[in-house]
Amino acid sequence: MPNLSYALQQHFGFSKFRPNQEKIIQNVLDGNDVLALMPTGGGKSLCYQLPAIIREGLTLVISPLIALMKDQVDALKLAGIPAAFYNSSLSSTEQEHISEQLTKGELKLLYLSPERLFMNDGAFLNFLKTLNINLFAIDEAHCISQWGHDFRPEYRFLDQLKTKFPKIPVLALTATADVITRKDILERLNFPDPKVFISSFNRPNIEYHVRPKQEYYEEILDYLKAHPNDSGIIYTLSRRNTEELAENLQEDGISALPYHAGLNRETRNKNQDKFLRDEVNVIVATIAFGMGIDKSNVRFVIHACLPKNIEGYYQETGRAGRDGLKSDAILFFGWGDVQKLKYFTQLEDNPEQTKILEEKLEQMIRFSTTRTCRRKYLLNYFDETAEASCNSCDICLSTHEKWDATIPSQKLLSAVVRLKEGFGMNYVIDFLHGSKSQKIRDWHKELKTYGVGKDIPKEDWKDYTRQLIDLEYLKQEGEYPTLQLTENSKKVLLGKEKVFLFKAEKPATSVSEKSKNVLELERDEALFQKLREIRKEIADQENVPAFVIFSDATLNELAVYFPQNKEDLKKISGFGDVKITKYGDVFLEVVVSYCTENQFESNMSEKPTQPKRKKRKQKISSSKKESLRLFQEGKSLEEIAEIRGFVKSTISSHLMPFVISGEIKVEALVPPEKIPLIEAAAKENPDIGLKPIKEALGDNFSYDEIRAVVNHLRK
Ligand code: ADP
Ligand code: MG
Repeated sequence: MPNLSYALQQHFGFSKFRPNQEKIIQNVLDGNDVLALMPTGGGKSLCYQLPAIIREGLTLVISPLIALMKDQVDALKLAGIPAAFYNSSLSSTEQEHISEQLTKGELKLLYLSPERLFMNDGAFLNFLKTLNINLFAIDEAHCISQWGHDFRPEYRFLDQLKTKFPKIPVLALTATADVITRKDILERLNFPDPKVFISSFNRPNIEYHVRPKQEYYEEILDYLKAHPNDSGIIYTLSRRNTEELAENLQEDGISALPYHAGLNRETRNKNQDKFLRDEVNVIVATIAFGMGIDKSNVRFVIHACLPKNIEGYYQETGRAGRDGLKSDAILFFGWGDVQKLKYFTQLEDNPEQTKILEEKLEQMIRFSTTRTCRRKYLLNYFDETAEASCNSCDICLSTHEKWDATIPSQKLLSAVVRLKEGFGMNYVIDFLHGSKSQKIRDWHKELKTYGVGKDIPKEDWKDYTRQLIDLEYLKQEGEYPTLQLTENSKKVLLGKEKVFLFKAEKPATSVSEKSKNVLELERDEALFQKLREIRKEIADQENVPAFVIFSDATLNELAVYFPQNKEDLKKISGFGDVKITKYGDVFLEVVVSYCTENQFESNMSEKPTQPKRKKRKQKISSSKKESLRLFQEGKSLEEIAEIRGFVKSTISSHLMPFVISGEIKVEALVPPEKIPLIEAAAKENPDIGLKPIKEALGDNFSYDEIRAVVNHLRK
């Protein structure tokens, strides 16, 4: 049996397999039929590409989209792997050339659409039978099922594969998780004895945020300005929205373009291409955009409108961070959108389907309004278990303590009453604050509630107002929205109901600030940008999108470790043998001369098999420092959790940066006799994520203990 890890390094430049990849490949090589469920970005392509390379013969890849085929084939060719696609975009000369290559056995992979396979009454199929085919890979396999979200009739033909080619193994791959679709795929493909591999659908590098949909344009703009070099997608509901938003952003100096099914084909392709080639940073799109976009360096996905269901949300956010680097998913939630979407759920003469759609929307609302971990909510939705706190969603990152805000709420509501529900949020707050401004009508300055809210900063008032709107104690109505009372307001004004709010969040700590978390890699930004430029130049020469040359993850490592020679390059993720030969010198020259200019030394000696965690530049939040202070006072995790109103696991993760920095000794958190056992288990299970370690160790070891030792090892 060939050494799979060696082949992985040699051809792809990756040092280790992602979860399940190796098992899937092994099964394929053993001749089994396999169904692999892996989240977007999980690395499905590699599961058929690697067997294709190391096996004699030809691997056929069935894929629904032409754009997708082209990028994959380009990427393979650049890595020195002979591959081609066969579809209607090719001229007849090109088609003949490929047939010739196939007959000569010169290709390792051939990509085609399902309808191609069965074309001309099976003439092509008969031609294929004369070739030495070692594997059929069916990408986006959910397209075969009507239960999936993207049914394609032409995929139905694939039910003949096992009868026509009983001896050739089939690998079906999809990122669609639900049980009905899964069953349906297996039935349709007629696998006699399928092996099924289901990966976790957790996307640890995506940080989930939900923001109230107010002044969301400003917030999006702030975010984009804080991330000027990042690529991302903004989803909106209507075609008109996408164009308006893209236009506004352009006027505000952001490089953005729209995309929706109503644009003519040429514009659509042009806009998509610019995005793929990093010539435009932001694409503002309806959900028509994305399927088949394999761009690996999408750093953020923003939903300016609420998606219809969790499946859609998960898929769309999943387009961020395929390269494994930290990425943001930001959703703006407003009740106005809910109203609109409710309307769409109502299907005439179909009460059953209507009910399903309503329930799915309801789940989406619950996700958006939950005050518990968002990641947990998503994973539970897909029938997966999860820890109570992920430390990388807005809920887990915020100091989410609620307090009894009945009195300020009463002040605000009575101000709205006094102002006869005729003024907007800013006016009401200025009024509460006792503003001396001309803007405040003189007779308002005589009212009893004028100035009763001086004790609370204006920004906090805004936050409370938004929360009160979310909780439906207030509503905003009209073209120039004025604050108005709701059914629920009276109960509060009469003292019959208490209001609990979250502590005010500073707008400054919106996503752009918070997202600088401890796990981020430390890189030299100037060098990184230089490398991006070089990559862009090469990509343009080769006429492919930049990420096909190297992913951002690869450039990131270059800008962290400063490799000085080709030996060093071998240790950089993404540099396989062919790419070292082809591009090694160009990239080395940039890195080496940058180091000389700045008198930097290489960091290669610090490169562990796992990426290095951010050490120097890390920002430690004051909340974490507070937990540290209490811990150093000798309090236990339970006590600190009690004092601070968090769960214990949150406190434990607060302390982790200090374990890494050495300020806390691991022995202070874990009984000494357990440490070597956890260390051994951690070394056995070097993947990101504590779950496999926990499973290996059993019930006597807590996640808190394991986390502490793992972070200690990182030190
Ligand atoms: P999927 O089809 O599951 O969405 P892809 O096959 O497009 O995912 O892979 C996503 C990214 O992950 C690609 O940039 C790919 O090169 C990278 N990748 C795949 N396997 C590995 C691995 N073992 N180590 C590092 N990167 C990998
Ligand atoms: Mg894929």
